[in-house]
Amino acid sequence: MSLREEVTGLLQGLLRIDTVNPPGNETVAAELLRDYLARDGIDCEFFAREPHRANLVARIPGGNGPSLAFLSHTDTVLADPAEWDRDPWSGDVVDGEVWGRGALDMKGQVAASAVAFASLRREGFVPSGDLLLIVVADEEVGDGWGLSWLVDAHPDAVRCDYAVNEGGGERLDLGGKPVYLCATAEKMSAPFKLRVHGRSGHASMPGIADNALVKAARYVEALGAYQPAPELIPEARGFLEAVLGETPPVEEALARAGELHPLLPALVQPLLALTLSPTMIDASHQVNVIPALCEVTVDCRLLPEQTPADAEPLIRAALGAGDYDLEWVSATGGTRSDLRTPLWDAIESFVSEIEPDARLAPIACPGFTDSHYLRTAFGTVAYGFFPIKEMDAVDATKLVHSANERIAVNDLELGVEMLRATARSIQS
Ligand SMILES: [Zn+2]
Repeated sequence: MSLREEVTGLLQGLLRIDTVNPPGNETVAAELLRDYLARDGIDCEFFAREPHRANLVARIPGGNGPSLAFLSHTDTVLADPAEWDRDPWSGDVVDGEVWGRGALDMKGQVAASAVAFASLRREGFVPSGDLLLIVVADEEVGDGWGLSWLVDAHPDAVRCDYAVNEGGGERLDLGGKPVYLCATAEKMSAPFKLRVHGRSGHASMPGIADNALVKAARYVEALGAYQPAPELIPEARGFLEAVLGETPPVEEALARAGELHPLLPALVQPLLALTLSPTMIDASHQVNVIPALCEVTVDCRLLPEQTPADAEPLIRAALGAGDYDLEWVSATGGTRSDLRTPLWDAIESFVSEIEPDARLAPIACPGFTDSHYLRTAFGTVAYGFFPIKEMDAVDATKLVHSANERIAVNDLELGVEMLRATARSIQS
């Protein structure tokens, strides 16, 4: 059987297992992988806080050289069959694509990681440092069953110098010059609540009260219109250099990128500054009561290594003085890995092998991935990369967490080759 057939079959098996989180039930997927690995005599270990939420770790022992992990997760977000053209758990192959919830996020990469790992072992590959296959539960919800727990409870099982995870790999065609995105950093998710105060009263006599909801309106507008001063973090600089061939002045970055590709402004804007999106609002719960309090919840994404303490004065300045409090709800992610590393070189040379004109461009992922936990716990150089060459980048992005999710078999096969080449490059 070719690796192409092997990875397609394994992915179909994974897609036919329902691992919607919650409740996850990732153990069933871990068992399928355990049986698959056993065919090549590979032992793996399960680590689970609850029997039905297993994380799987397998290892090809190496010497004192750098350790490398293929990192992935088996849980998925939910799927509403009514929105789909096929059963979300069918694993059907149609016109060269494998259908099912998780095909892109990220059972495709799970299958490719397992096949790359098993095939290297089969060929007798002896890595210079340990090669790890880490397949975790609970990435989508992040309630403490997956990698966040593993790095604390079983650090020796998952410690690694380098890791290839999800979060990048899309190919953009910029006027004949293809660019592949590599997620080397993540923004910090730091939502906050804006509490606007007023005075309650009977809604039939608005003059006697001070309506907190009405007062909040201008703050919501100010948050929506906020344009923070742009800055060129290393990822933005590297990205612009890769796509433009030079670093433009920061004020021109958005416009210059927009001339190249319609998708670029949406990609570049979050790289230049924090972003604010008011998403939820809560005020009076009775139609005839004027609210004394209006609470606006804001999705806020900070630049890597920026903190809520750095951002708060900027946000307060944008809002102006007033009768409100600002309360941070949580702060997760926001870590980065160096841009110039052997892992970068390995992925870059793979990219130029498959497309000699293509360039690799760093990006700070606007969302959160498990790379954060490895970086924080062990200083791991963790990148998000899985090549999406066959499928259009915009189409693929739209299918993640949406209906009719599917992956091209060509991309799946390319992913296996990328992971194999990466291990051979770093660990030979
Ligand atoms: Zn994912």
